[in-house]
Amino acid sequence: MIQEKGSISINTENIFPIIKKFLYSDHEIFLRELVSNAVDATQKLKRLSSLGHYNQELGNLNIKVAIDKEAKTLTISDSGIGMTAEEIKKYINQVAFSGATEFMEKFKEANDANEIIGRFGLGFYSAFMVSEKVEIQTLSYQEGASPARWTCDGSTEFEITDGNKTERGTDVILYLNEESTEFLEENRIQSILDKYAKFLPVPVQFGTKTESVEDGTDEEGKTKYKSIEVDNIINNTNPIWTKAPGELKDEDYLSFYQELYPYSDEPLFWIHLNVDYPFNLTGVLYFPKLKNDFEVQKNKIKLFSRQVFITDEVKDIVPEFLLLLHGVIDSPDIPLNVSRSFLQSDANVKKINSYISRKVAEKLAELFKKDRKAYEEKWNDIGIFVKYGTISDEKFSEKAKDFLLLTNTTKEHYTMEEYNAKVKDFQTDKNGQLIYLYTADEERQHSYVAAAQKKNYDVLLMNSPIDTHFIQHLETKLEKTSLKRVDADVVEKLIEKEDAEKHNLTDEETGTIKSIFDQALNNMHMKVEVESLPADAQPVTVTMEEWMRRMKDMSKLGGGMSFYGSMPDSYKVSVNANHKVVAKLLTAEEPVKQVIAKQLIDLALLSQGLLKGADLTAFVERSVQGISE
Ligand code: ADP
Repeated sequence: MIQEKGSISINTENIFPIIKKFLYSDHEIFLRELVSNAVDATQKLKRLSSLGHYNQELGNLNIKVAIDKEAKTLTISDSGIGMTAEEIKKYINQVAFSGATEFMEKFKEANDANEIIGRFGLGFYSAFMVSEKVEIQTLSYQEGASPARWTCDGSTEFEITDGNKTERGTDVILYLNEESTEFLEENRIQSILDKYAKFLPVPVQFGTKTESVEDGTDEEGKTKYKSIEVDNIINNTNPIWTKAPGELKDEDYLSFYQELYPYSDEPLFWIHLNVDYPFNLTGVLYFPKLKNDFEVQKNKIKLFSRQVFITDEVKDIVPEFLLLLHGVIDSPDIPLNVSRSFLQSDANVKKINSYISRKVAEKLAELFKKDRKAYEEKWNDIGIFVKYGTISDEKFSEKAKDFLLLTNTTKEHYTMEEYNAKVKDFQTDKNGQLIYLYTADEERQHSYVAAAQKKNYDVLLMNSPIDTHFIQHLETKLEKTSLKRVDADVVEKLIEKEDAEKHNLTDEETGTIKSIFDQALNNMHMKVEVESLPADAQPVTVTMEEWMRRMKDMSKLGGGMSFYGSMPDSYKVSVNANHKVVAKLLTAEEPVKQVIAKQLIDLALLSQGLLKGADLTAFVERSVQGISE
């Protein structure tokens, strides 16, 4: 007997074709919406029961998702509060958005299904993205309630009749449309549930699995087993972020990490987030071991709202420098269904952002203080975060002063303060400027590092991808201090002490030397300078000025300075006027001069790793010939 027919109160002709058309890309989220509704209905019932407003047995409260391939239906069932026919009219028919007109205007701007569904309270109606007909069979928890049935074929016409449900709760039955038969595949549904429902607070049952159970004993008294089919619960209803840190052991955090990211390396450490004022947020963030390709590791933090997975695009909620972290954040206070630009200006999101950044700083400071050695061992991985945070977040940078480490070529670690104290006596130049020396590649710059060490200078290691930026930043933070790469000049000039003694060559001799080298360089973009260096220093050294090299490094990183990027490399060739081979040049025979000069330049280029291709071949041939004669 038909009880009632009517029109869903949207004063436009038909909203469903619009929903279908515009929400095409995110079809699968209908399942998230329907399962979330089932969770809500179940939790409402539990609350009523705990408050004493519902005194019947709660029974099994599992939510069930079931496929019927023959009938081409997908059913989501719960044993929650259910609905009376009156409630169906109120909650389902009078669609929960303020006005269809507004919807019609706004849907044009909306970027994805999330936005429309959230903003207009269309959760339930997302079912029509995949169904030609939707049926609700429901029985309210209220005493004396009678079962109700609602159907709608995606037009604005609906039908309410008596239902067939004998037990409390709701079945939502989707008669899938032609284009949506993929949702009759177990694997497809399983993967959607894995994505969105894995940590829902109410058990969700999908399919069956076999389990081995005891089955008496055999003649010898050994336990027998048999396998039986049992309901398959797909979710973990009590994930660790819902628990208090005090209840948890390291193993719990580590095994949860494996649950989130199977087969991953163990994380370095983790931070348990837990606030309820002025916003509500829980979560666990892990510091992973970094691989070199850290770009691809971004987007590993999963965002939840009351244990419903929302997205792993957390760019706006987590400070950028922490996007390499892994883990989960759960907050009902993050507006999930609004546009990006709104999210960025949302006050809660801003607070969450700075809270996370503060928590991370506190954790690092604590680790450093508690066990410096262990902290230093992890520095290789943590360093990237700390340096990146220092560059990009002023507040973090302030806090990081205490636990930011500089590492030198002998693998010793120093805080900024310690390092300053270590080098200031030896490495302050004649103008009172303190010079920190560094190498970006110990192997390639070995001869320069060795020369600096011979002078008792300390050399820092700056070999991570972020160091080009970090060095720039460091200089702006440190007073009267600059950084120079070891190959930025000959070692005597890296840190200029007193005015260098002049060499003993006459102006004419200096000119001769210069022209010999100019000729040997044969138009390479290199400037020759004859300098007074210690007799035991290298006869020829190739260097590039610090600022020039930095500009080039920056432009390689896409720092926008393409002008410098396109400039030819301009190196300086320092000729050591006090070296005996240079004196020999002045008296040597003409062709020999060129051979010696070429050989000296090539040796210097070789030290810089600059000798390549045909030049390298020529060098090898020339050297072999030299020792054969
Ligand atoms: P929202 O969940 O955002 O309120 P929906 O369109 O998904 O919007 O649902 C509208 C309303 O219908 C819900 O607020 C709830 O009152 C009712 N409802 C939906 N699904 C169920 C269910 N499984 N059991 C009981 N009530 C439900």
